[in-house]
Amino acid sequence: MQALSKKQKQIAIIGGGPGGLTLALILQNYGIQTTIYEREMHDKSLERGGSLDIHEETGQKALKEAGVYEKFQKNARYEGEDFRLFDKAGRIYLDEETESHEKGTRPEIDRGVLCKMLLDQIDAENIKYGYKLDRCVSLENGMTELHFENGVVETVDLLIGADGAFSRVRPLLTDIDIEYSGLTMLELNVLSVEENHPDLAEFNKRGKMFALADHKGIIGQLNGDGRIKVYASLMVERSWIETCGIPFNQAKEPLLELFSDWDDQLKNYIRYAEDVIIPRRIYTLPVGFKWNRHKGVTLFGDAAHLMTPFAGEGVNMAMFDAMELALAIVRHPNDIEKAIEEYEEMMYEYSSEKAQESENSLKLCFSKDAAVKLADMMNSFQVNGD
Ligand SMILES: Cc1cc2nc3c(=O)[nH]c(=O)nc-3n(C[C@H](O)[C@H](O)[C@H](O)COP(=O)(O)OP(=O)(O)OC[C@H]3O[C@@H](n4cnc5c(N)ncnc54)[C@H](O)[C@@H]3O)c2cc1C
Repeated sequence: MQALSKKQKQIAIIGGGPGGLTLALILQNYGIQTTIYEREMHDKSLERGGSLDIHEETGQKALKEAGVYEKFQKNARYEGEDFRLFDKAGRIYLDEETESHEKGTRPEIDRGVLCKMLLDQIDAENIKYGYKLDRCVSLENGMTELHFENGVVETVDLLIGADGAFSRVRPLLTDIDIEYSGLTMLELNVLSVEENHPDLAEFNKRGKMFALADHKGIIGQLNGDGRIKVYASLMVERSWIETCGIPFNQAKEPLLELFSDWDDQLKNYIRYAEDVIIPRRIYTLPVGFKWNRHKGVTLFGDAAHLMTPFAGEGVNMAMFDAMELALAIVRHPNDIEKAIEEYEEMMYEYSSEKAQESENSLKLCFSKDAAVKLADMMNSFQVNGD
C-alpha cells in the first residue's frame, strides 16, 4: 500500500461508468482515495444493459489489476463469442461457434454485471450519486472548482473526466467537440427469447448476429438475462430521428417497412421485440484527437476518444486507460503532473490505433456488399493468425 502523500490530494472522478469505477477501485487497492461524482441518483448500469466483449490484452488486464478477475471469469459468457454473419437475403457468410471446452480471449459480460462487480468492491463513501457536473473552472493555484447542478461546489487537486461522450470536463481542455458519425442505431429488446421465441433463439444462437446490406444492418446480441438486444442500424442524416415520422414508442410497423425486402427470419428481430425503441445517434471524436496539457486535469474513456462500437473497443479502452492512469499515479505519488503526462502520451498512441480500427470497421460494415467484405476480412485475420 502506498499513500499518495502525507496529505492526500483531492482526486475527483466525474462519472461512475465502467471506466470511472475501474480507476477508483485500482487506486483504492493502492491506498489512494478518490471520489466518484455520478449524475444518476443510483447505479443505473443494470438498466442500461448491453453485452460487452472484454478483451484479454486490455479490459481483462485492468480487471486483474482491480482484483476482480476471478469474479469476472465466473460471470463471463465464453460462448457469447459465437458470431453469425448474414446478408439481407438470409445468406450465411460466417457461423463461428466456440467449442464448449474452449476459453476464448473475448468473452462477453452484461454491462450491469460488470459495473456491479466493480462497485461492490468500492468503499460506499467514495461514490456520490446525484452529482451532475455542470461546469468546471481552473483556479490560479492550479486547483479546479467543480460546479454541480445540485448547487454543490467542490475544489480538487486532480480532476479526471470519465463522463463519457458528452463530457463536461472536456471543454476545459479543448474546443473540439464530438461529431455525428452518420450512423443511427435503434435499440430494441426481445425478452426471454428462449421461452417466448424459440425459433429466433435457435437462429441467433448464443452470441452475436450481424445482418448487413444496403448501408443498413440488423444486429442481435444474446444477453446474460435471456434477452436479445437488437440494433436496427441505418446510415442517415443527423436529423433523421426527428424527421422520419416514426413514433418511437409504437413504431415496429414503420420500422419493418425500412427492412421490407429483408429475409423474414431477420425481420423477426424487430417483429418479436417490445414496442419501446430507443434511438441512438452514434458520435465520435476525431481519430488522433489530443488536447493541450492542463495542470491537474485529464480525461479518459469515451470522454477522451469516443469511437463507434464496431471494433468492440470502447469499454476495453476505458478500463485500460483507467489502469494506465492509476498505475502512473502510483508510480509518481508526489508528482501528479508527471503521472498525467506519462498516461496521456501512452493513451494517445494506443487509443488512436483502436479509433482508426473502429472507423474503418464502421465504413466496412455499412458499405455496399458489407457481408462479403466483412467475411473476407475476418477470414484473412484467421489465415494470418491476427
Ligand atoms: C449502442 C452501443 C453499443 C456499444 N457496444 C459496445 C461493445 O460491444 N463493446 C465495447 O467495448 N463498447 C461498446 N460500446 C461503447 C461503450 O459502451 C463505451 O465505450 C463505454 O461504456 C465507455 O465507458 P466510460 O466509462 O468511458 O463512459 P460511460 O460508460 O459513458 O460512463 C460515463 C458515466 O458518466 C456519467 N456522467 C455523464 N455525464 C456526467 C456529468 N456531467 N456529471 C456526472 N456524471 C456524468 C454517466 O451517467 C455514466 O455513468 C457501445 C456503445 C453504444 C452506444
